[in-house]
Amino acid sequence: MVGEKPFWETKSLTEMTQAEWESLCDGCGRCCIYILHNDETGDVFETDVGCKLFDAKARRCTDYENRSKRVPDCVRLTPQNAKSLTWMPKTCAYRRLANDQDLPDWHPLITGDKESVARAGVAVSPDLIPEDEIDDDLLESRITKTR
Ligand code: SF4
Ligand code: SF4
Repeated sequence: MVGEKPFWETKSLTEMTQAEWESLCDGCGRCCIYILHNDETGDVFETDVGCKLFDAKARRCTDYENRSKRVPDCVRLTPQNAKSLTWMPKTCAYRRLANDQDLPDWHPLITGDKESVARAGVAVSPDLIPEDEIDDDLLESRITKTR
């Protein structure tokens, strides 16, 4: 018997319900860490420094409802900007679907297990340094990898 296709294969980002849209987030936490850009090469570097509202052990924002007010440069993803935010991780479901790519096979919507993102090595470390514990000048020394 052939099952029905899942919503992310049949709907565009703009057609999804709010709940469907939210469920696309795999909880990797990689949009809640500090990143650095090299303007000349276009390279994006990840650091092990997290946003002040990010709980790295639980990998969640501790004040999601008020995030824009409390962290003005927290970027709100929308169906309209998901394609243009090229600094987002290449694994991010919003970026992938906006660019006509599939969800990776470790995505929690496919595995049914929210920890599959960590097992796949895609989630941030639970030992991030909170931003208020580090000087901006030292961010470069906290680079962990190129995105
Ligand atoms: S990078 Fe994408 S999938 Fe990962 S936490 Fe941010 S919005 Fe969710
Ligand atoms: S405010 Fe919340 S959602 Fe925004 S970057 Fe910080 S932890 Fe992430």
